[in-house]
Amino acid sequence: MSDRQVRVRFAPSPTGALHIGGVRTALYNYLFAKKHNGTFILRIEDTDQTRFVPGAEQYIADALAWLGISADEGVVNGGPHAPYRQSERKLMYREFAQRLVDSGNAYYAFDTTEELEAMRKRLEAAKVAAPQYNAISRSSMKNSLTLSEDETKRKLEAGEPYVVRIKIPRNEEVRFHDIIRGWVVVHTSSLDDKVLFKSDGMPTYHLANVVDDFLMNISHVIRGEEWLPSAPLHVLLYRYLGWENVMPQFAHLPLLLRPDGNGKLSKRDGDRLGFPVFPLDWQDPVSGEWSSGYREGGYFPDAVINLLALLGWHPGDNRELFTKEELVEAFSLEKVHKSGAKFDPDKARWFNQQYLRMRTNAELAMLFKVDIDKKLGSSANKWTIEYIEKVCHLIKEKAHFVKEFWDIGSFFFIAPDKCDESVIQKRWKDTVPGFFAKTVDIFASLSDFTAHNVEATFKKTAEESGIQPGSVMQLLRVILTGMSAGPALFETIELLGKDEVVNRIKKATEMLPK
Ligand code: GLU
Repeated sequence: MSDRQVRVRFAPSPTGALHIGGVRTALYNYLFAKKHNGTFILRIEDTDQTRFVPGAEQYIADALAWLGISADEGVVNGGPHAPYRQSERKLMYREFAQRLVDSGNAYYAFDTTEELEAMRKRLEAAKVAAPQYNAISRSSMKNSLTLSEDETKRKLEAGEPYVVRIKIPRNEEVRFHDIIRGWVVVHTSSLDDKVLFKSDGMPTYHLANVVDDFLMNISHVIRGEEWLPSAPLHVLLYRYLGWENVMPQFAHLPLLLRPDGNGKLSKRDGDRLGFPVFPLDWQDPVSGEWSSGYREGGYFPDAVINLLALLGWHPGDNRELFTKEELVEAFSLEKVHKSGAKFDPDKARWFNQQYLRMRTNAELAMLFKVDIDKKLGSSANKWTIEYIEKVCHLIKEKAHFVKEFWDIGSFFFIAPDKCDESVIQKRWKDTVPGFFAKTVDIFASLSDFTAHNVEATFKKTAEESGIQPGSVMQLLRVILTGMSAGPALFETIELLGKDEVVNRIKKATEMLPK
């Protein structure tokens, strides 16, 4: 790598909720900056006012804050290149559009929407595969290349609406190096004369993006593959503005694909296939449509960081679990894959499970307590946080998310009101009621009610009654928990405590078939 100071930016447009593909772009920029002691910038590209969505910028800031992808400079904390919102930089761009016109690399175009439409139809009729405003068609349109200088001047002075278009050379090769893809060569005959600037004074994305990357001294442009087709145009802009020697290096990241590998992971796939594709819940302010987020889905932010980091990058060994610091240490753009990364919802859940297991019981108890309070209201107060911690210890192995804890372990707080009948039917024998009546009395008289002692006592009682302990153990579990499977039985019993266990068995034996 050159010794240029690393300065990278994440430059989303506030057009809706930030897709996880965008979050991954932000993450790779962040990791790259941290790895090279560089600067990570958050810039908002809001020049297209027609696509502006209220709340979207705040959403982006909240999502990055939740994940701890914090920018060193940008819309949230300012910095030496403020403002970082392009609409607030509006006055800076005109000069550069003018420079491009003056040097003959851009031109004014006055075509109306109807005239553009007529051109498209004409080209379609002539069987042109992709009708474009380009090096060929521009010669028959209304622009400063076809109009006289006087006519152009008159139109501009009269305030006729115009756009500034780049003048793409007719027959050239544009070559640039992409860190992930290697050399990219594009022939200018496939490029169109994109609009750079409009008479309302607003630049388009292409001009604003290049100008800001230059003014903010960006060293590397790390962004999604969907921007690769725009890169040759950007290279030409750097050249025409005389900035080729400080042009950033490009790295275009692979697409995130649907779980079946068929196409790009889209906004709608998540809720359709049952997993989030957004970091936080989002309600579209116009359509009212809800999309679910990782945060509200119960994911831990460090699990999301870990799973996103591995969607398109791997250091090459067999590690899967990385802290953020380890990711910074291991990250390199050279190890980012070229091909699309399939999103795997089961793997996403697996990551959360791993992070859940790494949480202390105390942390989990604080989270679980919120649900317990909701379920039990004021009667939740009788459970101490120490008790909830012990419950977490017993049930956490069974869960992917804290929100599953209640379903797995509600019996630690309230006696089950129904039980798995199939177990009763399968395990039922005439000797059972007598056995449990005896067990209740023995349990009630035990002074040492620890898991170990209860287990030994239970087995001994079964054997003395001529019953296989295994055949009554599952019944005991169902009686106490309502379920046929769950956490370690005798540890559960110890935690429930003698009184509760005795009560539950008594109640159940009253109801058991005689
Ligand atoms: N504003 C563009 C976007 O929404 C940024 C593309 C780039 O990083 O150059 O993704």
